[in-house]
Amino acid sequence: MNILLLGSGGREHALAWKLAGSPSCSQLFAAPGNPGIAECADIVALDPSDHKAVIAFCHENAVDLVVVGPEAPLVAGLADDLRAEGFAVFGPGKGAAQLEGSKGFTKDLCARAGIPTARYERVTSLEAGWGALKNFNAPFVLKADGLAAGKGVVIAETREEAQHALSEMFDGRFGSAGSEVVIEEFMTGEEASFFALTDGEIILPFGTAQDHKRVGEGDTGPNTGGMGSYSPAPVLTDALIDRAMREIVVPTVRTLSEDKMPYRGVLYAGLMLTDEGPKLVEYNIRFGDPECQVLMMRFEGDLAALLHACATGDLSKADPVRFSDDTALTVVMAAEGYPDTPKKGGAIELGGAEDDGAKVFHAGTSRDEDGGLISSGGRVLSVTARGSNATKAQAAAYKAVDAITFPDGFCRRDIGWREVERETA
Ligand code: ATP
Repeated sequence: MNILLLGSGGREHALAWKLAGSPSCSQLFAAPGNPGIAECADIVALDPSDHKAVIAFCHENAVDLVVVGPEAPLVAGLADDLRAEGFAVFGPGKGAAQLEGSKGFTKDLCARAGIPTARYERVTSLEAGWGALKNFNAPFVLKADGLAAGKGVVIAETREEAQHALSEMFDGRFGSAGSEVVIEEFMTGEEASFFALTDGEIILPFGTAQDHKRVGEGDTGPNTGGMGSYSPAPVLTDALIDRAMREIVVPTVRTLSEDKMPYRGVLYAGLMLTDEGPKLVEYNIRFGDPECQVLMMRFEGDLAALLHACATGDLSKADPVRFSDDTALTVVMAAEGYPDTPKKGGAIELGGAEDDGAKVFHAGTSRDEDGGLISSGGRVLSVTARGSNATKAQAAAYKAVDAITFPDGFCRRDIGWREVERETA
């Protein structure tokens, strides 16, 4: 089949790598892509926000499947526009995409379906927000309703801080994403990510992962898009996965189908493992980045056929999902100054990083006039390796990192520390 993959990050490079290696993929196009994706796909000059251009390309090139990597085109309704033209799309339509596009939508759905999550209130004015704060105790969790590139959440230690953050939100700190705010009860526990593929009817668990959001070692400093991750996350035991499926994912998918917004794609549940059991922190409507890199490193099978089955409502006929028992771990190499002002144009030499089976997924890279690899974004490379446990995967990933020359880059040296500590205990 002919496949069009949309996106340009490390997540999409990992997807491109697995799609290109799928027996059922005959041609893979990618837009806008990056130099790593260009090694496994034909790059096409298409802007995913130009729906008409994407549709025209799919007609001209007899595209059988469109795989949408990031959330923004889905929230903007690209999947609906493509489906209206008869194309199979891996990714939900605008209605179901509200699971990520509106935190208030998700909380209301959870309340209706009895899904365990933090108690909440939705507010649309500063006055209402200040009033609602009285119903919560510190620490206060405040969330801009809409998409805010992972930066729309404030955890305030005191009531004064919470009031200040609310004022900023309603003053437009997050643009229109902050015209509504969700105030939540603070949940305590370890966080883990759970993935499921669904065609709206059948739901298949698709692995677990944990990530490191903070820029600094020991999980300190400002939040980032993610500095590393590993899969599986053994803290999500089979019993907890069963519970997360039963209590969270299945009722979500059922409710969306009943509401005539069937979900087709990957559902990524951010979970808090509390003393009372798993509770939903948030939904994402696409693979995580860098969680996708570690899932793809472990996935065994024909990814193209599986995503196509998901897109066409045929998951009941798909081959069983198989993952390697190995742990995969990825270390993000970022440009100096990330997450605030990443330095662009830094030279990169990959050296022998992939010699021992590691994979270097490209994110913010480009080519200079001489064809040399340079940095062009905040997160630049996602260096991914496998091992029989987290300790071994971590050692293999850092061995690959150390083979790379990127003087203007940096990475955390402790990705996977929690799991490595558990393994050595
Ligand atoms: P991202 O896209 O970066 O994951 P986001 O903007 O979609 O973030 P959330 O995932 O909802 O927002 O929240 C970001 C982080 O804030 C969570 O990963 C979690 O660590 C923390 N957090 C969110 N809600 C709560 C809560 N109710 N209790 C405790 N911590 C929370």
